[in-house]
Amino acid sequence: MDIPELNRALYDQVMVPSYNPPAVMPVRGEGSRLWDQQGREYVDLAGGIAVTALGHAHPRLVAALTEQAQRLWHVSNVLATEPALALAARLTGLTFAERVYFANSGGEANEAALKLARRYAYDRGERGRSEIIAFGQAFHGRTLFTVTAGGQPKYTEGFGPLPGGIRHLPYNDVEALEAAVNRHTCAVLMEPVQGEGGVVPADPEFAAAARRLCDAHGALLIFDEVQTGVGRTGDLYAYMGLGVEPDILTTAKALGNGIPVAAMLTRGAIAESFQPGTHGSTYGGNPLACAVASEVIDIVSDPEVLAGVRARSERLRDGLATIGARHGCFAEVRGRGLLIGAELAEAWKGRAREVLQAAMGEGVMTLVAGPDVIRLAPSLIIPDEDLDAGLERLERAIAGLGDRS
Ligand SMILES: *Cc1c(COP(=O)(O)O)cnc(C)c1O
Repeated sequence: MDIPELNRALYDQVMVPSYNPPAVMPVRGEGSRLWDQQGREYVDLAGGIAVTALGHAHPRLVAALTEQAQRLWHVSNVLATEPALALAARLTGLTFAERVYFANSGGEANEAALKLARRYAYDRGERGRSEIIAFGQAFHGRTLFTVTAGGQPKYTEGFGPLPGGIRHLPYNDVEALEAAVNRHTCAVLMEPVQGEGGVVPADPEFAAAARRLCDAHGALLIFDEVQTGVGRTGDLYAYMGLGVEPDILTTAKALGNGIPVAAMLTRGAIAESFQPGTHGSTYGGNPLACAVASEVIDIVSDPEVLAGVRARSERLRDGLATIGARHGCFAEVRGRGLLIGAELAEAWKGRAREVLQAAMGEGVMTLVAGPDVIRLAPSLIIPDEDLDAGLERLERAIAGLGDRS
């Protein structure tokens, strides 16, 4: 058959309109740079939404993928494979966890975490313990369970009836949490830094209170580290920097650097509630994905790489603060590591998407987190000159918008 020209117009003819991308279509990436169909070059400060943590076409990841591609792609979870075990051994060796369950996306890993928490209570005969406590502005994925756990009503509108037993509290509100956790609480589900919800870090006291209350009332603490995990915050996992250990942790996004893979980590006693047949996934633990993820973990867990995240974080924050001071565009620059949010100042409120579009026009890819926050999640190993070039282009975009308004 004849394939038509692959452009933005075709998108509207062949795609479900669940996204509305710009006309720019990247065709190639290398490190922290992208090139579109016209050969225009972009600095990538978006990282595919906190996914390409080691940039594009990292030689060690390309090698891991192609080597595994010539060996074995898939045999189903009826059989164990070496890449899955190698990745699970790394993840348990480097974290609190003793057991790993593999999935393909963050939403799926969270779905598994919530099901496991419910099943764990059930297995202990605690039939009244089913309530999931989650938080406003949270994001946990798009399955019906995870989207209901998320704290953004616009994402559940029209999809009811929704799963029950989920309650939302304000994030970082210790008192509300103290009042809510009780013997009916099955799990508390939280992001160590709310990503989609505006790049809002958990107060250490809030995270500690969640741990303390879960312990006191026999509930499980689930950390959704889908966005914060794999070095993003400057620790291999954000819980390490917070000094609060969860009972279940989910990780995805950067784990595969763009190859779909996710994992749910937990302790041995809790893992026992997923027996053969209780839960599963056709692709979970896929050899291609796991081979890449092991290489990602080997690179990112290097203390020098993690120290590099913290150094780049300062450079990026300083650069944003300078732009903010010159143009009066930012009320606050916040975040952890290389997950940074610049909240727009009063006069700029609601213009985050406009800034993103202008930035793309100047040759830099950025993200937003709601209408008022510019979010940046570049590669953890982005060279200083790329970071500086990205900031320069972002400043040009902001200057242009400022002149016009
Ligand atoms: C992106 C994200 C998810 C969803 O991950 P998918 O791979 O899109 O299913 C869940 N939780 C958090 C914190 C995320 O940032």
